Amino acid sequence: MGAKRQITEYLDIDLEKEMWCCNRCGRELISGRQNYKEGCLVYDRDPRDLYEPIPEAPFGFAPDPEWIRYLEFYCPGCGVLIEVEPLPPGHPISHDIELDLDILKRKYKEQR
Ligand SMILES: [Zn+2]
Repeated sequence: MGAKRQITEYLDIDLEKEMWCCNRCGRELISGRQNYKEGCLVYDRDPRDLYEPIPEAPFGFAPDPEWIRYLEFYCPGCGVLIEVEPLPPGHPISHDIELDLDILKRKYKEQR
């Protein structure tokens, strides 16, 4: 087993390099001690582009774009969609995965 551990469907952590990596193409995204989203390409989506309008209806199911944007995070190497986060416009991105790299590295070294 190498130094990479799969964290989500599309994210690995490389415990030797301390880097977030794409699970699909292996590209290094950013330091494992930072928010992986900062190493991704971001597409700020208007909800009206994601929900089909209802023909001849005065309403639809798309959230109000003044209240919600969909931020899509993509691997800059292969373009795989890593994460989607709905947020109010201008809201900072969340830091949803913060690993204790020191403990993970210690476990990795004990397995070797
Ligand atoms: Zn990739």
